[in-house]
Amino acid sequence: MYSNSGTNLASLSPSEIKDWINTFDTVLTDCDGVIWVDNTPLPFATDVINKFIENNKKLFFVTNNSTKTRNEFVAKSNKLGFNVGLDNIISTAYLAAQYLKAKHFDKKCYVVGTTGITRELDAVGIRHTGAGPDVLQGTLGEAVHAFQPDPEVGAVVVGFDEHFSFLKMMRAASYLNDPEVLFIGTNTDERFPMPDCVIPGTGSIVNAVTTCAEREPIVMGKPNKHICDILEEEYKVDPKRTLMIGDRCNTDILLGKNCGFQTLLVETGIHNAADIEKFAQSNDPDVRKLVPDVYTSKLGDLLPYL
Ligand SMILES: [Mg+2]
Repeated sequence: MYSNSGTNLASLSPSEIKDWINTFDTVLTDCDGVIWVDNTPLPFATDVINKFIENNKKLFFVTNNSTKTRNEFVAKSNKLGFNVGLDNIISTAYLAAQYLKAKHFDKKCYVVGTTGITRELDAVGIRHTGAGPDVLQGTLGEAVHAFQPDPEVGAVVVGFDEHFSFLKMMRAASYLNDPEVLFIGTNTDERFPMPDCVIPGTGSIVNAVTTCAEREPIVMGKPNKHICDILEEEYKVDPKRTLMIGDRCNTDILLGKNCGFQTLLVETGIHNAADIEKFAQSNDPDVRKLVPDVYTSKLGDLLPYL
């Protein structure tokens, strides 16, 4: 039923839509721009998500946001009416902690990030240092002289950090001089556009450290396959019977393609049907990969078929 330029849900009959819904039993969904915008649920999104859960689909919220723990995501989701628990949330801070746990990491992490990361590390018993403000006092020469690397540090984890500073970059890169020290980036989202300004995203911070360290990080967030590995290992998910829903083609839809999932784009966030059309006509196969299997104006459009 899929076309090379994506299938518009509205072009399918009710029975075709129901058949399609029966082809997946796991649903992964992005949050911002799909189920809510900031603190407002999108129309009928709560009903659709709660119906998926009622209909025994395995459901996961997959977010690149590294500033909240899974518990904090559950609290926000519940407040907005989504009937989800801890097992329904996959965040990049959680993935970073799980990645280290799977490696039986027993040293300390130098964290460029917030409590979103440090609390997930605490939850798996991994020690950490570095979170919070770290600003230059006195001259740079004095700061360099005073810096004593902690010999216990065996990994650098970089996420969103509103206290990111020159000293943090210096410390992170210094630890990363040792090739044995692991380098983990939570995600590489460039920025959050706001009406009157641009808020630098985690990718800006990760890239600053990458440049200075002259090393590439292992990136946890969409569109990288780590999420898929965790889902297959920890939750026994079958990629072919999994649907990834998103509003952004180069993270959400690409994650789906990278993992062999089915994909659905909703037009309540970043990308829309006109973008898909452009991607579909590209000569570059990497760009054509951004075309979702199915697209629709909003997640709520699925409600009549659930
Ligand atoms: Mg989004």
